[in-house]
Amino acid sequence: MAASPSVLRVALPVPLPRLFDYLPPLGMAAEAVAVGQRVRVPFGPREACGLVVAHGLAEPGVELRAALAALDDGPVLQGELLASLRWLAGYLHAPLGEVLATGLPASLRRGEPLPDIARRGWVLNEAGRTALPAMRAGKPKALAALLAEARDEDALDAAHPGWRAPLRALRERGLVDGVVLDAVVAMAAPAAGAFQPNAEQQIAIDAIRAADGFAPFLLDGVTGSGKTEVYLQAIADCLARGRQALVLVPEIGLTPQALARFRARLGVPVHALHSGLNDNERAATWWAAATGKARVIVGTRSAVFVPLPEAGLIVVDEEHDGSYKQFDGIRYHARDFAVVRARALGVPAVLGSATPALETLHNAQAGRYAHLRLRQRAGAARPPQVRVLDVRKRPLQAGLSDEALAAVRAAVDAGGQVLVFRNRRGYAPVLLCHDCGWSAHCPRCSTEDRPTPMTVHAHGKRLQCHHCGHRKPSPPACPDCASLALQPQGNGTERIEAELQARFSEVPVLRIDRGSTGHRDALQKHFDDLGTRRGILIGTQMLAKGHDLPNLTLVVVVGIDEGLFSADFRSGEKLAQLLVQVAGRAGRAERAGTVLLQTHHPDHPLLQTLVAGGYHAFVDGELALREAAGFPPFAHLALLRAEARHAEPPMQFLQAAKATLDAFAVEASGPLLAPMPRRAGYVRAQLVVSAPDRRALHAALDAVVPALHAAPEARRVRWSLDVDPVDLY
Ligand code: ADP
Ligand code: ZN
Ligand code: ZN
Repeated sequence: MAASPSVLRVALPVPLPRLFDYLPPLGMAAEAVAVGQRVRVPFGPREACGLVVAHGLAEPGVELRAALAALDDGPVLQGELLASLRWLAGYLHAPLGEVLATGLPASLRRGEPLPDIARRGWVLNEAGRTALPAMRAGKPKALAALLAEARDEDALDAAHPGWRAPLRALRERGLVDGVVLDAVVAMAAPAAGAFQPNAEQQIAIDAIRAADGFAPFLLDGVTGSGKTEVYLQAIADCLARGRQALVLVPEIGLTPQALARFRARLGVPVHALHSGLNDNERAATWWAAATGKARVIVGTRSAVFVPLPEAGLIVVDEEHDGSYKQFDGIRYHARDFAVVRARALGVPAVLGSATPALETLHNAQAGRYAHLRLRQRAGAARPPQVRVLDVRKRPLQAGLSDEALAAVRAAVDAGGQVLVFRNRRGYAPVLLCHDCGWSAHCPRCSTEDRPTPMTVHAHGKRLQCHHCGHRKPSPPACPDCASLALQPQGNGTERIEAELQARFSEVPVLRIDRGSTGHRDALQKHFDDLGTRRGILIGTQMLAKGHDLPNLTLVVVVGIDEGLFSADFRSGEKLAQLLVQVAGRAGRAERAGTVLLQTHHPDHPLLQTLVAGGYHAFVDGELALREAAGFPPFAHLALLRAEARHAEPPMQFLQAAKATLDAFAVEASGPLLAPMPRRAGYVRAQLVVSAPDRRALHAALDAVVPALHAAPEARRVRWSLDVDPVDLY
């Protein structure tokens, strides 16, 4: 007779590629604890919270400790999500325990109880029903009539805005009772506001509607072409079929304005999930999705981990956006994982962008994704006029040419709004001694031959390193020659702001970057303050997307030249996307828009191609270059990084890794110092592993990564593996 399993295999959030065996908690059978259920276990001298991922048989002679307790009544991770997370761990060659922990909201990861997500509402009681007919007409009576049927806050928000005061009145008179609502209550019909889709939108909507099971779509539509309208109709269809929809948006795209648009149009509660929420709120939304109570979830990167037991659709808006890639810990790509989940769930995935990633366009061209195009702006809006402004030999004020300043003046005088885009925050990128050539460098990020300048902030008073965060006051005099001729060189958003405030003192001049606008509520407040009044916005890429600015008639882009000559193979793609996205902010409504690209390299092929042929002309050339050079999407990469206080340990570790990789059909280049060779006091090195074939890459990593964990060289470094790296530094 086969022995019944007596051991729990537990995944713990530790950086070790293995599971840990425990006996079930005292008095419980192993099978009584489900796969996907949380357990609290002793781990060394402390306790840890893990997930049961399998049951096993005890090995004779091995002494095991017992789990301390099983949490919850059943699994928190199960079905498709558990399977997809297992797949992700394999794909990233990352420890399962860490990947599962990443998939859970922080409070559940820590072992805290499941959130209470009972929906509370109100209903008219016996006394209320008796009193209703005789009540005076007015808000309390209208609300009382509505509460003949129990309703929760969301339903009241939609059906009876301003319901809180009359509710208080009804409660004081003892006419309503609080209740807990279990079933999802249907809400009022979706508010009006839907457009008659144009022909291209209709084709897209029909294609998504016709999808049966997994179907990936690229919705490739210029800014303002009505992609969001297509999502909204597809989501409405999904809801009508009784299914859940997940919408991923970039970190900066989830504005209150965007959420309000979803809420108003769909007629069901829309659950937001983003970094501005506290742990309890995040866990509540996650669990509401797991229990099917949340029907529409709109969230940033980590929302890709919400459970979707009744999934019907996954949308990834601005799918090219860099914020979908996690840059530390478990380095997943939310867009790619969204497609993996859609496949596992058997639902359509819609990836939308005005500037699709080269990977995504390549998938569309290869026929793996259906390519839906929206070539025209919806409604009355016209595409903006783009002009390259040659500023060679022209005088510049805070980096702005006379021609650009005159254009700003004209736009403001005509009552419009202007956006000045400069992707560099702070006052100036460098502090230089004009007498001896000394400049301020970060002591923690510089090497002998590769100094990292510190950015000047606060009008010259403070220095800050944008790589490690190190700050200090500016020196009063040059540390090398004692000269007082210290000069900020170049222009950041702060300096441009000061210049424009001085010149345009009669209109609001607002700076929007990470320094001035920490989080999204502050961003919204800036926009609300400005409204549709004439004025000037200065900002970094925080301004490239998100909020709709219908009165924006001029966009001036400055300081792009450094991006034209970067060594990173993705820099052209990123710059092209940024320019097209920023340009797309202009003229979104009836008023025509103009975009000025200020440059010292007016003949640069990237600018020429973009202006003459648009983003797709750029992409065609760029894909050909990538293919010739053997770069993604024509090759698959993994980046092995290592760092330590000194250069030798990382180099030795990577050298050892390279030696083991030699036996496989992959190419390992390096090890080399990273393009940024020192950061926050650590010397950084890397090995690029590439293969034309994804399977070959993974076969090699499957074999090599476990050996890396065990390698003696690994003990002297911090190392990480980045599969499909976005940045090679
Ligand atoms: P995108 O997401 O592609 O940037 P939006 O969906 O935000 O575009 O649409 C841009 C603007 O055009 C919005 O103000 C939207 O309300 C409007 N719009 C969208 N579709 C239509 C349509 N079929 N007819 C008229 N206006 C539309
Ligand atoms: Zn000096
Ligand atoms: Zn630094």
